[in-house]
Amino acid sequence: MLATAVPPIAGVKKPSKRPAWDLKGQLCDLNAELKRCREKSQTLDQENQQLREQLKEAQQQAKDLGTERSTLEGELARVRTQAEQGQQQLGNLSAHVLELEERLGTQEGLVQVLQKEQLELQEERRGLTTRLEEQERRLQASEAALSSSQAKVASLQQEATTQAALLAERGDRLHGLEMERRRLHNQLQELKGNIRVFCRVRPVLEGESTPSPGFLLFPPGPGGPTDPPTRLSLARSDDRRATLSGAPAPTTRHDFSFDRVFPPGSRQDEVFEEISMLVQSALDGYPVCIFAYGQTGSGKTFTMEGGPGGDPQLEGLIPRALRHLFSVAQELNGQGWTYSFVASYVEIYNETVRDLLATGTRKGPGGECEIRRAGPGSEELTITNARYVPVSCEKEVETLLHLARQNRAVARTAQNERSSRSHSVFQLQISGEHAARGLQCIAPLNLVDLAGSERLDPGLALGPGERDRLRETQAINSSLSTLGLVIMALSNKESYVPYRNSKLTYLLQNSLGGSAKMLMFVNISPLEENVSESLNSLRFASKVNQCVIGTAQANKK
Ligand code: ADP
Ligand code: MG
Repeated sequence: MLATAVPPIAGVKKPSKRPAWDLKGQLCDLNAELKRCREKSQTLDQENQQLREQLKEAQQQAKDLGTERSTLEGELARVRTQAEQGQQQLGNLSAHVLELEERLGTQEGLVQVLQKEQLELQEERRGLTTRLEEQERRLQASEAALSSSQAKVASLQQEATTQAALLAERGDRLHGLEMERRRLHNQLQELKGNIRVFCRVRPVLEGESTPSPGFLLFPPGPGGPTDPPTRLSLARSDDRRATLSGAPAPTTRHDFSFDRVFPPGSRQDEVFEEISMLVQSALDGYPVCIFAYGQTGSGKTFTMEGGPGGDPQLEGLIPRALRHLFSVAQELNGQGWTYSFVASYVEIYNETVRDLLATGTRKGPGGECEIRRAGPGSEELTITNARYVPVSCEKEVETLLHLARQNRAVARTAQNERSSRSHSVFQLQISGEHAARGLQCIAPLNLVDLAGSERLDPGLALGPGERDRLRETQAINSSLSTLGLVIMALSNKESYVPYRNSKLTYLLQNSLGGSAKMLMFVNISPLEENVSESLNSLRFASKVNQCVIGTAQANKK
C-alpha cells in the first residue's frame, strides 16, 4: 500500500534545461516545480493521512481482533471446561444409566410379580364380585323378609294390645270366678258339714296275727261298690256269753258311717286327695283343723307325717298339704295374690307345751313354753319361747319335720313312749294379700297328731311308776274329752265353750268353731285284740260326726 501512496519524484517530467540568462523562465520553472511539489506534498499528506487512518483502522482492527481473540480464548476455555464437565457428566450418566438398567431389570422382575399378583387379584376380585352379588341378593331377600316381619310385628303388636285388653278383662273375670269358686267351695264344705270325720284303718303289719274273716267289713255305699266307701262294720264276739252257754261265741256287729272310710289298702295320696280342697280353703281365709284320733299304734303319725324312711309315696298329710299350698299359692300369684307361710310345731305333754322346733339351749327343761295372747285385746294366740319359722318350699318343711322327729326322739329316750302320750300340733299361719284389689286373708292351718286315746285298765294294780302313767293318761283323757266337749258345745251353739279346760283346745280355739273347718281322722287298728279301743274310737268319732258347726266365714279384711 505504501508503494502506491507516494509516486517517486523522479517520475515527474522535467522541462528542458533553460539557458543561464533566462532567469524568468527559470523562476517560472521553479514556481511550477514548487507548485508541483506542493501538490505532491499535499497528495502525500493526503496519502499519509489516509495511511494513518488506515493504520489507525488497522490498529483498531488488531485491537478488536485481540479482544475478539481473548474473548474466543475465554470462550474456548469455557467450552473446554464445559466439555470436561460434559465428559464427567457423561461418565456419571453412563454410571447412572447402568444403575438404571440394573434397576430396570429389578423393576421388570417386580412388574412380572405384580402382573402375576394383578392376575390373582383380578381373579379374587371376580370372586368377590360374585360374592358381593350373592350378598346383595341375600340382602334384598333379607330386606324383603324384614319388611314383611315388620309388618307382622306391627300386626302382632296390635294383636298384643288387643290381647292385653282381653287379658285384663279375663283377669277380672278370673278374679270373679276365683271369688265365686271360693264361695261355692265354702258352700260345698258347709253342705258336707264344717266338721267331717274320716275313718282310716291301717293294714295288718308284719308279725301281727291276721284277724278272722268278717271281723272288719266295708259295706258298699248307696251307689254300689264304685262309690267311695263311707261305712265300716266291726264284729265283736261276746266271749263271756260263749263260756256260759257252751255254744260258739255269738258276735255283735257294730256299724258306723262316716264322711269317708279308708280301708287298709288306701294309699297316702288317695287320702290326701280327699282333703286337698279343705287344705286349700285355708288359702281362702278359712281356719282349718285336721286331727288324727286313735289309740297308740293305729296309724296317726303315719297319716300325719308319713311312713318311715323318707319314702315319697309314704309321705303324710303335713308335707303333702304344704306342697299343695305352695303350688296353689304360686298359681294364685298369677292372679295377683301374694302368700306367706309361717310354721310352728309344738308338743303338748301332760298339759305342758314344748317346742318341737327348738334348737340349741332352748331344747332343755328351761325351754318351757306358754300360750299367750299376741297382745292386749288381741284374739291371736302365740306360744312364748317357740320358734315361728317362715317357710316357702318343701325343703324347708322337710328340715322342720326332721328336726321335730329328732327332738321327739331325744324326749323318748328320757321318758318312755312320751310321743304317744302327747299331742303334736303343727300350725301354719297363712297370710295372703291381693294388693291391687286391697284384699287380705289370714288363716291358720292346724295339723294335729293327737295323743293315744287308749284308756288304762282300771282293774290293774298300780305300782309307783304306774301312778305317773295314770296321771298322764288322765291328762290325755281329759284333754281328748275336752276336745269332744268343745266340739259338742260349738255344735249345740252353747254360750260357754270350755276351751280353757285343756292346753290343746285353748291353743286351737281360733281354729275351732264358727268360721273354721274341721276334719277328724279316726285311725283304727285292724287287729281283733284292739277291738275295744277301736269301738271306743269309733264311738267318739261318731259323736263328733253328728255335730254340725255354724257357718264358716273366711277371715277376710
Ligand atoms: P300312732 O301314731 O297312731 O301311734 P303310727 O303311725 O306310729 O301309729 O303307726 C304304727 C305303725 O303302723 C307304724 O310302724 C306305722 O309305720 C305303721 N302304719 C300305720 N299306718 C299304716 C298304713 N296305712 N300303711 C302301712 N303302715 C302303717
Ligand atoms: Mg304317733
